[in-house]
Amino acid sequence: MPAPYEAILNTLRQAFPQPVSDRVHDAYFVFSFLRALDQVDALKSVTPLLGTQRDLDYETARTRLMSDSPQHLETVVADLVKHLEGMFIFGHPKSQINVVPAPTIPSIIGGLLPSIYNPNLVSDESSRQVAVAEVEVSAMSASLVGYDPQQAAGIFTFGGTSTLLYGLKIGLEKACPGTMHKGISEPAVVLCSEQAHYACRTAVAWLGLGEDRLVEIPSTPDNEIRPCLLESELRRVLNEGTKIAGIVATMGTTDAFGLDDLKVIHQLRDDLVHEYSLDYVPHIHADAVIGWAWRVFNDYDFESNPLGFRNRTVRALAGVQRRIEHLHLADSIGIDFHKTGFAPYVSSLFLIKDAHELQLIAKDPTSTPYLFHAGKYHPGKYTLETTRSGAGPLAALANLALFGKDGLRALLGHLVSMAELLREHLEGHSSTFVLNRGNFGPVTLFRVYPDDVDTFSEPQKEFHDPRKKDQLQKHNAYNRRIFEIMHDDAIRGEGVVVSLTDCYRETDYGEPIVALKSYIMTPFAEEQYVSAVLDSIWKARDQIKSEQRGTS
Ligand SMILES: *Cc1c(COP(=O)(O)O)cnc(C)c1O
Repeated sequence: MPAPYEAILNTLRQAFPQPVSDRVHDAYFVFSFLRALDQVDALKSVTPLLGTQRDLDYETARTRLMSDSPQHLETVVADLVKHLEGMFIFGHPKSQINVVPAPTIPSIIGGLLPSIYNPNLVSDESSRQVAVAEVEVSAMSASLVGYDPQQAAGIFTFGGTSTLLYGLKIGLEKACPGTMHKGISEPAVVLCSEQAHYACRTAVAWLGLGEDRLVEIPSTPDNEIRPCLLESELRRVLNEGTKIAGIVATMGTTDAFGLDDLKVIHQLRDDLVHEYSLDYVPHIHADAVIGWAWRVFNDYDFESNPLGFRNRTVRALAGVQRRIEHLHLADSIGIDFHKTGFAPYVSSLFLIKDAHELQLIAKDPTSTPYLFHAGKYHPGKYTLETTRSGAGPLAALANLALFGKDGLRALLGHLVSMAELLREHLEGHSSTFVLNRGNFGPVTLFRVYPDDVDTFSEPQKEFHDPRKKDQLQKHNAYNRRIFEIMHDDAIRGEGVVVSLTDCYRETDYGEPIVALKSYIMTPFAEEQYVSAVLDSIWKARDQIKSEQRGTS
């Protein structure tokens, strides 16, 4: 008589992929996944949602307990699928929500394969060729951004936030040597634009520098850091004798795709090192988690335009390229393949121009200097994580290989074309106002106004003149209402899902400017869905008018 546990064990063994080839069981494995996909597929409809959005019942969720007996694999999978209900389908043509990509099939498989075999990137002993994949992707990315791939190195990590953490940790160690061991014993600041991602704040807080040590520099109306104000702040900090743990250049802001002038920042840094005879060089980290992909246009011939983009698109792509071409001037760069690289979460790469600088954050600095050309690969010596998944590098590798430069150019070019089309429409109407005008990315921020507003002059007045504060707030509320109506419309499958930002930027007198945001990321975007955004806006305006008639 087998013990009861053995019966359980035997059943559960069926729930594992078989260690030795077993074709029948392989079929069961694949079929189980296929059935999960079938169930997800059944949730699809004309709306950009999986199933419907039901209320999220956390009350019941908090009462859930682990059961005594095991459940069938099919039951478990069905339960998992249910948890995808209500999700937006970011690849849906009616989805223009945020910088969330639809992952490609090879990148999904790139994410799945390591989840079967658990390669651990802590060292090549535990990840073998997957460690090589990390080096391959790092090299490909290094040459893409203009680093020497023989000098540079890359580490996949847990998000764009963490790429900042790495960059600033190295910067801190350069400015204040020994903090890895002794902790922080003197104040050090990090400078970035006021439009930088709040991840900068997270990084300085978690590094122990403290949020108060983050110096946010005002930006231009195009959402770029103001170099002259950066200079005066750098001088103020240096005159005080305070150390600079890092300067963050944002290469593609999250909301408006603003691009800092890295060339000027780099020149400024070098000049000040010389002028103040600094004994360290303040680290420049480029937060290019969004903008990196545009580097594929660095060697695109905009004159002959072989891919045949529309004129407006060529102009827009060239407008980004003129900033992104200087990416190699940064000492380190953050790249998110899960943003503009069409990979599943999480696939973030921290790239450093000079691999030797990783030594600054090595766990044991007395160990022999890490050499990248020979010897074994032990990234775990200097990574924050111990276990690191192979999913990030394999997903990234999949897409870099699948796309090639022309593929990525075609995808980005299409997204930008669609965004330009939307802008053309919005700029052509008297009741809509595009906020990020000088901007060249796939994102459009705009405001909608009621009939009685002259959008040639009023928006500008609202943004600059404190006497217009009431009017600005009234129109903030109006835009929130437009958003609600458009959202309901989209959930019903009629309109397009866009999003709302509570603060596109602040007015000159410090009030938040609410804006609607269209982020076109899906390769399935088409002109008709751009028109659908407009239709939905007019419907929302009409509804507000009738609501107002009803209450007056
Ligand atoms: C999204 C984003 C981040 C944070 O990256 P995660 O991958 O979400 O951690 C940092 N900087 C910018 C500019 C971003 O858009």
